[in-house]
Amino acid sequence: MNVQPQASHFIDGAYIEDTQGERIDVIYPATGAVIATLHSATTAIVDQALASAKCAQKEWASWTATERGRVLRRAADIMRERNHALSVLETYDTGKPYQETSVVDATSGADALEYFGGLAASITGEHIQLGDDFVYTRREPLGVCVGIGAWNYPTQIACWKGAPALACGNTMVFKPSETTPLCALKVAEILHEAGAPAGVYNVIQGYGAVGASLVTDARVDKVSLTGSVPTGRKVYQAAAEGIRHVTMELGGKSPLVIFDDADVENAVSGAILGNFYSSGQVCSNGTRVFVQRGIKDAFLKRLTARLADVKMGDPQDPDVNFGPVVSERQRDIVEGFIAKGVEEGATLVTGGKRVDLDGFFLEPTVFADVTDDMTIARDEIFGPVMSVLDFETEDEVLARANDTAFGLAAGVFTADLTRAHRMAAGFEAGTCYINTYNDAPVEAPFGGSKLSGVGRENSKAAIEHYSQIKGVYVRMRDLEAPF
Ligand code: NAD
Repeated sequence: MNVQPQASHFIDGAYIEDTQGERIDVIYPATGAVIATLHSATTAIVDQALASAKCAQKEWASWTATERGRVLRRAADIMRERNHALSVLETYDTGKPYQETSVVDATSGADALEYFGGLAASITGEHIQLGDDFVYTRREPLGVCVGIGAWNYPTQIACWKGAPALACGNTMVFKPSETTPLCALKVAEILHEAGAPAGVYNVIQGYGAVGASLVTDARVDKVSLTGSVPTGRKVYQAAAEGIRHVTMELGGKSPLVIFDDADVENAVSGAILGNFYSSGQVCSNGTRVFVQRGIKDAFLKRLTARLADVKMGDPQDPDVNFGPVVSERQRDIVEGFIAKGVEEGATLVTGGKRVDLDGFFLEPTVFADVTDDMTIARDEIFGPVMSVLDFETEDEVLARANDTAFGLAAGVFTADLTRAHRMAAGFEAGTCYINTYNDAPVEAPFGGSKLSGVGRENSKAAIEHYSQIKGVYVRMRDLEAPF
């Protein structure tokens, strides 16, 4: 399959190239081969994209919300029709197995387009009666929104930001990660084909510097970033200069707590989904797996048995269920953490090594006897490495689960109904799971607390972050004044 796009950028309804921009080689993580070459946006391209978004915004906002919603719903239909091709592309971009991409990426992107398309017409203000006078509120768009993406879910991130932004009457300039630049271009193409006017959704490529130049531009009203905490700090600070709205979807080191009374098979499934899906490159992963002592042996036994069913190979093969990590750099980072885990005295239960395949494959890795102070229990690894920690009591585990600067997600497996809800109430995290892990339906809010972020994506909550309220006071009688 030829994955080379027509051009690097999609601006004002058309593909556009500027070869003056720094070269971006797209590498298929399963082979290490260069599969496409793009160019980072020059200042001229950045300017063109923002000018186009600015120019299109007022007109787009003047459409009725039903009309805007129809465009989004049409785009959702097109995405679903093209699910196969989009999933193949997502697999080339990220290395995630087709077995995953065919059911997660374009499909969840389409869900977001459909959901916010459906919601658009219900976004209304309110009427506040004040005697004879009254106030009415208008829920208005923010203006031009910038979206900046991470490399783990390029299609999903482009849609999770674009769909609510466009539903509210904003326009967007989206910059995908330089590691996975291909998929967002398809989202732009599809939205345009579905009837979004030129300039409503633009995609430009680039490294961090391009993202930084977008964040500080006077034409930009809002920035939504999905990325690491260090990048989040920089973007948040830069956005503050212009008092711009922000959504920050950042990193995590989430706890997954398994009590003695949990169903072992379900708990193992949760731990697998929360550590090895997408080769562990999921922000909300429950990488600190706290296992109560009474269930530890059974848990580790079933976990290692089930890991024998991991099938690695060409991620485009639908039978393959575990892919490489996204890049050579990411593999090096993850290997560094594995070495640290061994050095600091954790027990390597399984994995830990490279796989004898081309590309950036690493075995799914499980450490047991991990303690709270070890590097692998404190830092976000963003790779297929699970840390299993022992615990005795509920109070103890809740305190330890919360003893982190991050607060993205948290999960608990238990048969005790009241304990499950107590734990969910006690977790310092934006997204919690009871007897499941890592579900992210568009109907539910998603986002972090503490260092993991600000704002929420998905659900009705996202509307708050892509619109603002204007209050209009209406006087019905003569107006008195002191002189
Ligand atoms: P990253 O922070 O390195 O990069 C994210 C994006 O920011 C990229 O597009 C990059 O080009 C851009 N960028 C870098 N410096 C910038 C700057 N100074 N100004 C503006 N933009 C800049 O993150 P990554 O390595 O691509 O992704 C992995 C991280 O993302 C992990 O920490 C992961 O937890 C997090 N993540 C969070 C979520 C979430 O929803 N909370 C989802 C996926 C990934």
